[in-house]
Amino acid sequence: MTDTPLTPHQNSIELLDSPLGDQIVSAIKRTIGASNTTKPHGLHEPEFPGNEWAYIKDCLDTKWVSSVGSYVDRFEDDLADYTGVKKAIAAVNGTAALQVAYQLAGVAAQNEVLMPALTFVATANAATYLGATPHFVDSCEKSLGVDPEKLKHYLESHTHQKGGRCINNSTQCPIVALVAMHTYGHPGDLDALLEICQRHNIILIEDAAEALGTLYKGKHVGNHGYISCLSFNGNKVITTGGGGAILTNDLRLAVRAKHLTTTARQNHKWEFSHDEVGYNFRLPNINAALGCAQLESLDRFILEKRHLAHRYIAEFNDITDVQFVTEPPHSKSNYWLNTIRLKSDDIFVRNSILEQTHRAGFITRPTWKLMHHLPMYSNCPRMPLSTAEQLERSLINLPSSAALGRTS
Ligand SMILES: *Cc1c(COP(=O)(O)O)cnc(C)c1O
Repeated sequence: MTDTPLTPHQNSIELLDSPLGDQIVSAIKRTIGASNTTKPHGLHEPEFPGNEWAYIKDCLDTKWVSSVGSYVDRFEDDLADYTGVKKAIAAVNGTAALQVAYQLAGVAAQNEVLMPALTFVATANAATYLGATPHFVDSCEKSLGVDPEKLKHYLESHTHQKGGRCINNSTQCPIVALVAMHTYGHPGDLDALLEICQRHNIILIEDAAEALGTLYKGKHVGNHGYISCLSFNGNKVITTGGGGAILTNDLRLAVRAKHLTTTARQNHKWEFSHDEVGYNFRLPNINAALGCAQLESLDRFILEKRHLAHRYIAEFNDITDVQFVTEPPHSKSNYWLNTIRLKSDDIFVRNSILEQTHRAGFITRPTWKLMHHLPMYSNCPRMPLSTAEQLERSLINLPSSAALGRTS
């Protein structure tokens, strides 16, 4: 077994197709249909089937292209309606939305923020921007989210309470928040995580960047913590080009979020006055226009994505060395990225499958390199991360565009 990932186009090793790779390639081929195999397609491609052109043209015609405009208000209202939160605040991207959400949750210099090691780097970066330290926790095999059992035992033995705060015994720093990230659209075990957070005086934040359209126990994700975030990057379920949103059920927080993302400018007819250090994190109207049109197609995208997932499930059912990742119990996932887990956790096997699927014309991807394996986060506090490390070596994302699940 080797720990060195193969670089693409490495030609010193002649890779041969393996029987497992053949099985995986033909399962993908059968799922997405022979007609798609000749067209190159990304892992998750955006689609603009509805009013996208019309709404953007409207922005250009009316000259409302920048950070103020009716599409921003409408997008925020539509998002709140769709997700069931009281308020959504649009932001320039998901990372910026996370940073502001963390700040409003009290994350600051000298704090620690618990988060999965298995996540996209933005989850950790947003804490670092505020001077806080990411503190990595292990993931659960089933949901791919934070493992509540391991977290519970870890906090009991590694932290204490002081003045109503949770203190890390080894660093003496306060642990202020836990970020639950809903991996590939599958919701984490929010009830269990919330209970642990309440017991230890930790604030729960949801990084729902990948999970627009996902329900946990019948309720849209982003409703369960103190504050949460979405992303509308080009590869997400819907896109605004770049964009994100902060979601909250607390109207006071919503006002603070809007203020912070709008350079903390005070409302006045002509004066430029700012009462704290804010950010220029507003979503431009032209991007919001795209978002309004995309939201109109969201239900259809999710139906198609779930249809695609069910076809993959049927095709991978007989391959014993592969497990298809399905939505956890009591949830309805948007299946943002379809994912298989190899029985083998030898990274050489994973890489050879990635190479073979690419040779066959299918875009596949490994999961993210774990946060503590990145140079800037290698010294951060962490619990033993055995499950995350196995997942890192065995997860592969499959082509997941909504169009691939279309029947007609
Ligand atoms: C996409 C994503 C973000 C934010 O992404 P932006 O590209 O900044 O919009 C944050 N966290 C996770 C887990 C993501 O997948």
